[in-house]
Amino acid sequence: MVLAIETTGLSKSFGSVQAVDSVSLRVQRGEIYGFLGLNGAGKTTTIRALLGMIRPETGTVRLLDQPVGPHGRGPWRQVGHMVESPAVYPELTVRENLEVARRWQGVSDRGAIERVIEQLGLRQYADRRSGTLSTGNRHRLGLARALLHGPDLLILDEPGSGLDPAGVVEIRELLGRLAGEQGVTIFMSSHILTEVDRLATRIGIIHRGRLIEELGARQLEALRARKLVVRTRDLAQARAVLTGAGFEVHDGDEVLLLAEARAVEAPDHVATLLVNAGAPPTRLAVEQENLEDYFLRLTGGDA
Ligand code: ATP
Repeated sequence: MVLAIETTGLSKSFGSVQAVDSVSLRVQRGEIYGFLGLNGAGKTTTIRALLGMIRPETGTVRLLDQPVGPHGRGPWRQVGHMVESPAVYPELTVRENLEVARRWQGVSDRGAIERVIEQLGLRQYADRRSGTLSTGNRHRLGLARALLHGPDLLILDEPGSGLDPAGVVEIRELLGRLAGEQGVTIFMSSHILTEVDRLATRIGIIHRGRLIEELGARQLEALRARKLVVRTRDLAQARAVLTGAGFEVHDGDEVLLLAEARAVEAPDHVATLLVNAGAPPTRLAVEQENLEDYFLRLTGGDA
């Protein structure tokens, strides 16, 4: 199996700050890997190390089975990236900026520019001076540049930042298509779990420089606690009925919460019990723990 990204024991500190601490990543080809962490967790530093933009103190990086090292060594023709707010030439239009990038990247296909303009929804801004673009559109231009040479691997630092909610969805769909239709491997960082959880096939959580958890999309789903939320007109009576039936009942905010599998998986049974006891539910719902809460729980809530 060819790995798209492989790091071993990657570490980098700035003075007394250990920004990245022994991070070993293995991202398989075709994966969409969500790299999650709070602000300052070490995402950007890791990404810079992946791209050979900083020199790690220890550890190695391989992209697409080639070593990344000093003197610009790496499979850069196959890698597209966007790190932090992308720099643009403000005097040049969007199209001209892309033309400069095309020549820099040695992309011979001139049609590539119109293709990425279309992909990123930049058509109506193509002849605008880049300095006048909104943050979100400058961001799109950065992404367009990353896609210009049709990379096999995309490494993106916070691709959703600066975009409005519709823009976030649009970029998510674009990335999903690139992965699904063209087999592009995507490594993307975010500090917002819900921004990546719908797209990612795997999620790695970095906290204080350490990779503290790695989950497949299904595992993540399974790990998130589910509970049955019950509302009735008479909570005390309902509590007594459910406790009497052997359920472990927790008090929520004007609701009762049941976390056991036999409740979560059989809400109809719980409803029947309550109806028969004369305490019919006015609301009965299985709720999954908010992903943000899960994230905070995992990282100790010390955001
Ligand atoms: P954010 O989401 O805020 O960008 P991040 O997860 O990308 O956060 P990094 O930018 O990698 O985090 O920073 C990790 C730690 O390293 C932080 O404590 C940061 O202050 C520190 N750091 C990063 N770059 C430098 C630098 N050039 N000089 C000094 N400290 C740095």
